[in-house]
Amino acid sequence: MSLSKRSWAEPFKIKMVELLKMTTPAQRLKAIKEAGYNTFLLKSEDVYIDLLTDSGTSAMSDQQWSGLMLGDEAYAGSKNFYTLEKAVQKYYGFKYLIPTHQGRGAENLLSQVMIKKGDIVPGNMYFTTTRLHQELAGGTFVDVIIDEAHDSENLFPFKGNVDLNKLEALIKKHGAKKIPYVCVAVTVNMAGGQPVSMENLKQLRKLTNKHGIKVMLDMTRIAENAFFIQQNEKGYANKSIAAIVKEICSYTDGGTFSGKKDALVNIGGFLVVNDKKIFEEASNLVVVYEGLHTYGGLAGRDMEAMAIGIAESVQDEHMKARIGQVQYLGDKLLEAEVPIVLPVGGHGIFVDAKRFLPHIKQDQFPAQALAAEIYTDSGVRTMERGIVSAGRNKKTGKHYYPKLELVRLTIPRRVYTQAHMDVIAESVQHVYENRKKIKGLKMVYEPKYLRFFQARFEKL
Ligand SMILES: *Cc1c(COP(=O)(O)O)cnc(C)c1O
Repeated sequence: MSLSKRSWAEPFKIKMVELLKMTTPAQRLKAIKEAGYNTFLLKSEDVYIDLLTDSGTSAMSDQQWSGLMLGDEAYAGSKNFYTLEKAVQKYYGFKYLIPTHQGRGAENLLSQVMIKKGDIVPGNMYFTTTRLHQELAGGTFVDVIIDEAHDSENLFPFKGNVDLNKLEALIKKHGAKKIPYVCVAVTVNMAGGQPVSMENLKQLRKLTNKHGIKVMLDMTRIAENAFFIQQNEKGYANKSIAAIVKEICSYTDGGTFSGKKDALVNIGGFLVVNDKKIFEEASNLVVVYEGLHTYGGLAGRDMEAMAIGIAESVQDEHMKARIGQVQYLGDKLLEAEVPIVLPVGGHGIFVDAKRFLPHIKQDQFPAQALAAEIYTDSGVRTMERGIVSAGRNKKTGKHYYPKLELVRLTIPRRVYTQAHMDVIAESVQHVYENRKKIKGLKMVYEPKYLRFFQARFEKL
């Protein structure tokens, strides 16, 4: 990333603060044990710096807060729906909007409307909720991301790219009729927030057009993806993030969106499409799962805040500070020689638990153990993205063994300062220096769906 040598700072100042509880090592040891060594089961009160997720944890601007007061809480046809519709058309260029309570609500609608039993849904690496909704609709997810994405040390700048050869082979094998759409995530969360290049999207459009297959975005982190295109792809250095975001959308047929990431709100999401028939079916179905098609499970005020957040998310200065902070933490950890996924992605640092804890076998959950250890050291809450998150193969009942076994340090937007980043880096470094003492875990409770949220462990 070409941030210049001069110091930079955030394009905002702080108007209100939230006080944090400080804990002792003994309190943290007790808390993590009671949480079954699963950071999802900790009480937020017991956490000092919360890097569990950047989902719904961003700080809203004064504009967004004042937008809440403009909430039109009519059951049907709320003003805020039309404000959001306008924002979606302006910034993304899609025709039809269906609000949902969050991203997975939109994933459910899209999967139910477009996927038939026996269908194949190719995607650039799975995302937990996305894949589950595809499977619940009777589809089978197939990973068509480039091989580089599975290698935590490969420096290729667009590790989110779709491997067009893999996709073409899949089309040949199953026939285009079995593939309702290709699901393209920008950026790819599970690969470490790695971006897709514009060139790859153009080629994907060409290939899918040839076969009459649709392209649906997981556009949750699209502004972050646009930043990487601006920084690293030829021909885009002088284009605004807003223009790049709109160009990305232009090569696709619609998408699902979680407003809790890019769009800087605590709750909200939507489905957008250009095809009127898909829109009509989905806006019929949304009534069953979320609410009427002009609110989709959201309060009017939430739609207003999301519309404002979308506009703020595509500001160049905002994104430079957002990803600049992630980069700052990454640089600190690299200096300390902690193994992390490179290049540093858009929303957080992904520590490579396989290289951090080579003495712990993957089925003893090294990333889960490491997340628990970092919390115990400093009260910094991170999360596992490895074998626990990957779940089990439905047919064989065996664990999936993902190549990447990671601990994610996700940075909420506009929430923490550079001093917080220093404290985080020092804690991870301290745990790294004492890594040989860390032991693996055994799973003592395993829920059926998305087990990483609620599974419980004991120390071996
Ligand atoms: C968060 C996320 C989702 C799901 O959105 P929710 O609002 O949490 O339901 C889907 N895809 C990606 C890439 C995400 O990061």
